[in-house]
Amino acid sequence: MRVTPLHAGNPGPMTGSGNWTYLIPGPAPVLVDAGVGVAAHLDAIAAEAPEGPAVVVVTHAHSDHIAGAPALVERSPAAQFLKWPWPDRDARYAAPWAPLADGQIIATDEGPLQVIHTPGHAPDHVALWHADTRTVFTSDLLVKGSTVVIPASAGGSLTAYLASLGRVAALDPVRALPAHGPVIDDPLALIASYVRHRQMREVQVLEALADGETTAAGIAARLYPTLEPALVPMAHESVLAHLLKLADDARVVHDGGRWRPA
Ligand SMILES: [Zn+2]
Repeated sequence: MRVTPLHAGNPGPMTGSGNWTYLIPGPAPVLVDAGVGVAAHLDAIAAEAPEGPAVVVVTHAHSDHIAGAPALVERSPAAQFLKWPWPDRDARYAAPWAPLADGQIIATDEGPLQVIHTPGHAPDHVALWHADTRTVFTSDLLVKGSTVVIPASAGGSLTAYLASLGRVAALDPVRALPAHGPVIDDPLALIASYVRHRQMREVQVLEALADGETTAAGIAARLYPTLEPALVPMAHESVLAHLLKLADDARVVHDGGRWRPA
C-alpha cells in the first residue's frame, strides 16, 4: 500500500513529538486524521494532493486529531469528512461530518479500508483495517514504547479499550500505523505487552485496596510515588480507569465516595 505519513507539526506535552496523519494517494486521495491546522501540514497535504483530499477520516475527536478539520474544509470544500459520532465534541469543529459505522468500507485507490470501532481511549475511536496488506491504522490505540492514556472521566473506558485491543489482535495485523511514534512492525507483541501491563496494574490496585486505600488519588500516590506534578492528573485518570473496570467486573464497589473490594 502506498501511504505517505504527514506530520501534523504539533509537538507538545500531551502529544509528545506530535501527530502523524496519513495520506493514501491516487485520483481520490484519503487523509487519515486532520491534525490541528498548522500551515506546514496543510501545505504538505496540498503538495501530495493538489486537488485536496477526497475524503478526510478523523479517528476520534481529541483535538490533536480533529482541530485541523475546519482549515481543511476551507481548503478542500468538496472533501467528505467522516468520523464516528461523538456529538458534544464534534460540534466544536466545524465540518460537514458524516457518520461512520462499524464495518463500513472506505474506498481508496490502494484498496478498501474497513472501519473498526475501537472505543476505550475515546468513545468515538476507530481503527482502519487494510486487509490486502494486513495493515491497521491504529491512531491512539497503540504507541510504541509507551502505554495509552485512558481518560476515565472524559469518555475513556479501560473495559472497552481492552476489548478493542482484542478486536484488533483478532485481525492478525502485521503492521500498525499509529498517530504517535514510529510504525509498529510487531503489533501483536505490543498488544500482548499492553494486556500484561494492565493485568499487573490491576493486581497493584487490588493490593492497595486490600491495604485500606479508598481513593483513586491515594492509590495513584502509592503506584506512582515519583511522578512529576504535571503528570499526577493522568495517573489519577489511569487508576480511576482501573477502578471502573474492576467495578464492571464486580470486583470492587464504590459507595460514599470510597472504593473497596467487593
Ligand atoms: Zn487521543
